[in-house]
Amino acid sequence: MVSKEISCTALVQEKLDLLKQNKYHTVNSLLEETALELASKVDSKIANGEKIGLLEGIPFGIKDVYMVQGTYTTASSNLLKKYKSPYTATAIQKLVDAGSIPLVKENCDSFGHGSSSENTIFGAVKNAINPALVGGGSSGGSAVNVAKDFTTFSIGGDTGGSIRQPAGYNKVYGFKPTYGRVSRFGLMAYASSTDCVGPIAKSIEDIRIVLNIMSGKDVKDQTSYASEEILEEEISNASAIKTVGYFKNFIESKAISSTIKEDFLATIKKIKAKGIKVKELDFFDADMLVSTYYTLAMAETASNLSRLDGTNYGARIEGENLKDTYSITRSENFSEESKRRIVGGNQVLSQGFSDEIYLKAQNLRDQISARFTEDFHQVDIILSPVTPANPPKIGESLQDPLAMYLSDAYTVGFSLGGLPTLTIPKGTSTGLQITADQKKDAQVLQFANFLNDIL
Ligand code: GLN
Repeated sequence: MVSKEISCTALVQEKLDLLKQNKYHTVNSLLEETALELASKVDSKIANGEKIGLLEGIPFGIKDVYMVQGTYTTASSNLLKKYKSPYTATAIQKLVDAGSIPLVKENCDSFGHGSSSENTIFGAVKNAINPALVGGGSSGGSAVNVAKDFTTFSIGGDTGGSIRQPAGYNKVYGFKPTYGRVSRFGLMAYASSTDCVGPIAKSIEDIRIVLNIMSGKDVKDQTSYASEEILEEEISNASAIKTVGYFKNFIESKAISSTIKEDFLATIKKIKAKGIKVKELDFFDADMLVSTYYTLAMAETASNLSRLDGTNYGARIEGENLKDTYSITRSENFSEESKRRIVGGNQVLSQGFSDEIYLKAQNLRDQISARFTEDFHQVDIILSPVTPANPPKIGESLQDPLAMYLSDAYTVGFSLGGLPTLTIPKGTSTGLQITADQKKDAQVLQFANFLNDIL
């Protein structure tokens, strides 16, 4: 743009047109007016010879679970179909302050509940590579928009894999930072103890730039922390990475597709050939990770969504009395999948069950985190596939929720550990997942650059 090959307004208009015409069901609402206004401001700055920042004028997309003042924020649900945000999420505000231009609120699984972006009132998101397949989830619209160049980058949300898995399904990069690196303020809460804000983009460099802008302590999110900027030089050389580990039982699981397994092991060979030590690690059974994650995620979402009862928020449907009103509003306006989770979550939190189930899951989570800590005494990076199988056809996952939960086997563990983890679109048909110890986000990007060079 600075070279004046294309004006910012023309770029934004081009993307808006692509989004409008697209048949992948990625758009919940367009932010056309503000986007064009912001673009013309950038053009005037350029015309006046003013300096513009790295992200200035760059159009981006936002998963429709982020508050952006004055915009519909629906969480792809009937309940919030008409809800408008009264304020803007911290991460989004930082991007806007840096000059990026929000274009679109993106389709996703309702409240982040899902792994396919079919649990939405806006129509199932179609895969960017093969539209008969799912877009992945829950940040499916965001990953497809990036893959199709409808947005330059998009901001997804990742509770148990929702950035990494759709990134893998659509062959782009998707990063879940260390829990707390980016403020969650203004991200609609799914499971607060694992919810993370992160970028989806087409290069590691774009991931780095966007991550740097969004990171930092925020008084509005007590779990956020101050972090150092990640510099380009710092991640261009991976010589500090000496040992890479992988979980044997992920690869030996019955659920993994044979080609994903073969491709993964071929990657391991290439890494060894570069003189990096590779260690097989023993870890919890993948099914156990899934059950621990879903127990906690359901408990937290039941609690977080209890406020959506049609009184302060949401489309109220009047009943005979107050209790009736709550019950009809929630029964009619939540999706099947969200109701399954709310009922499940309330069950595991209820008296008589919570010690047996919820507290047990908490305890397992502590054990999982402790194991990660031990593992990272032995290895610098953990490498894994993103998913055990290729994306399903549209319609398949809806028939078998348990199979859908199990397809999250490789992503949810790292969420429970609060670890930084990145999907790169290489190595297997649904990508590779690079994970480092907490707060070592730079190391993840470093190893991603290295893998990019050798794969
Ligand atoms: N598929 C997982 C779930 O449904 C993860 C979703 C997410 O990260 N928001 O919980």
